[in-house]
Amino acid sequence: MLANYSIPPKTYFEIASLGYLLVLCLISFRDKNRRGFRSYKIFRLLEINMILALAVSVLTYTFAYPELGTPLSVCTLLRTMDSVMCIMASRIFAVYVMEYVDSEGRQKSVQMVGKVILGIYLTLMILNIPFKFVLWYTPEGLYMHGPFFVPIVFAAPVYYLTSGILMLIFRLKKLGPREKVALTIASIVTLLGIIIQAATNGIVLLSLPFGSIGIFVLYFSIETSDYHQLLKNNERLKLAQQDAIKANRAKSDFLASMSHEIRTPLNAVLGMDELIILEAEKHKNSDPEFAGCIKEYADNIRDAGQVLLSVINDILDLTKIESGKMEIKPAPYSLQKLVNDVGVMVRVRAEQKGLSYIQKVDPAIPEYLVGDELRIRQIMINLLNNAVKYTDSGEVVMEVSMKDLTENRLTLCIRVSDTGIGIREENLPLIFGDFQRLDEDKNHRIEGTGLGLSIVKRMIGIMEGDISVTSEYGVGSAFTASIPQEISSKSPEKTADNGKAGSPAEMIIFQTPDCHYLLVDDNKMNLVVAKRFLDRLGGETDTARSGREALQKMRESKYDLIFMDHMMPELDGIQTYEMSLKDPDNINPETPVIMMTANALSGVREEYLAKGFADYISKPVEMKEFLRVIESHLPVEKIRHLAEC
Ligand code: ADP
Repeated sequence: MLANYSIPPKTYFEIASLGYLLVLCLISFRDKNRRGFRSYKIFRLLEINMILALAVSVLTYTFAYPELGTPLSVCTLLRTMDSVMCIMASRIFAVYVMEYVDSEGRQKSVQMVGKVILGIYLTLMILNIPFKFVLWYTPEGLYMHGPFFVPIVFAAPVYYLTSGILMLIFRLKKLGPREKVALTIASIVTLLGIIIQAATNGIVLLSLPFGSIGIFVLYFSIETSDYHQLLKNNERLKLAQQDAIKANRAKSDFLASMSHEIRTPLNAVLGMDELIILEAEKHKNSDPEFAGCIKEYADNIRDAGQVLLSVINDILDLTKIESGKMEIKPAPYSLQKLVNDVGVMVRVRAEQKGLSYIQKVDPAIPEYLVGDELRIRQIMINLLNNAVKYTDSGEVVMEVSMKDLTENRLTLCIRVSDTGIGIREENLPLIFGDFQRLDEDKNHRIEGTGLGLSIVKRMIGIMEGDISVTSEYGVGSAFTASIPQEISSKSPEKTADNGKAGSPAEMIIFQTPDCHYLLVDDNKMNLVVAKRFLDRLGGETDTARSGREALQKMRESKYDLIFMDHMMPELDGIQTYEMSLKDPDNINPETPVIMMTANALSGVREEYLAKGFADYISKPVEMKEFLRVIESHLPVEKIRHLAEC
């Protein structure tokens, strides 16, 4: 009887697919590492279902012909099973795609419709057995399709696959690049097979073979164990990266708060030291030897204190840069003045070491530029200090030139070269790293933290510039910074400290004998230092150790200026100031209040000004800062310049 049957050519693709899918099953089922994957079960179901669908299809197209002697019931059963297996294959395929694109199961409605369609389909197929309205055989052995056949047998798989593809399109961003490509290719190929088979009215059986190709694509791109291992490792790396970012942030916060804590007592040390210098200068005529000796000690304390302060400032700068809070404040400035100021400072240091300092500025550079003068000064000083530090004989040269000149912009080129110890070639790539100190055995006696160049590089980066270094070991080094700047048409505004420098005694160029100041700080030492500064200006100074005491004093006396510390227990400076404004008994609502704090993080100045404070002084406060604030906030008639006295 079997002699009646022969395998029809239109199933050859299916037989081939069956063969290679069996091989794929062998490979994938043997891979034990795959068992833990989230898509393992559903992919296995997809493989098994596809194999069964292919087998049933081949059997159907070989045996489901009553004219060859197959009983009608067997023919009907084969046809029904063929249809069910095809629908199941597309359904599982769609569920697989959804598992990837919608693992949280958020697209409930799509899944619901899918289930309902499957339910309706299975009910119809069961009802089809007694009522014969989807597919059936006539008693004469003619195979018939009812009106439901096409909507069900083709529409259901098309719905499943298109809903999968649409979801894929909408949620493409959630997927990795490989998943995107694999799922898209597999879905489109499978859909194409169904469409071709429908369009050719089943002359070529391509829906299942194309579906098998889709399964192959999926397996070798996103289902292999090494790919999943890669995903797991990536996930681990991501977590490790997040931990590292968190740890880095914690480090920055720690450094910022530590440097803040160190600045406060340092404020007292440097302030007291300045007072000692002032006292020594006062007594230099009566007892020159003693005053000279005291001044020398105090100068040493000041120098060491300033080194400590600059280290703390470096750390603060670094934490500011790392947390993205480093602000560049462009304003017009005079390049010539900046270079001269820096030059005066560096020349002294260079000459102390017996080095010559040469400074060249291209005269064609426009005099006024717009940029962050403070940061450019910091960059120049850093490079020049290094040049002096790492040079024992010879010269240090700073050349300032320009390039890329346009009508309103140019790039400033600052080249600092020296005839110092130089840098080994292998160390050049490391030089701008954090805490990188090179040639430690040779340089261990030279003070430094290895932060300067790292800050310089990052600061230049924020200003969209660049820095490079060339060096010959034992001969010398040259650092070139290129920083874009705008050209200013107007000269910068004069600030109070323009042209003021030198010792505290020399700085005092005015007195304020008729002024009444209020100093508010919970730290007794800071109060003493600040009060002594103000006492030098004449006038009267009251002090308050807390916000409450300050509020009381503001009710009792009229002040010309109030200096308020920020961090105080109970009521802080901001709360005290805000309460004073609401206090009906306060007789100083108009008095300028100056914030005086060790909180030197960038951006705080604007915060304080926005809160209504008249100005901001960063601790450790210096005499010249007091003078600047007093000069800018007191009415002119209250200031008596010494030349006038
Ligand atoms: P440091 O505080 O140690 O000077 P920097 O970041 O400024 O930190 O410099 C990093 C390292 O680069 C220094 O420790 C030094 O080894 C090297 N270096 C920097 N400038 C020079 C220079 N002009 N000549 C030789 N070596 C230099």
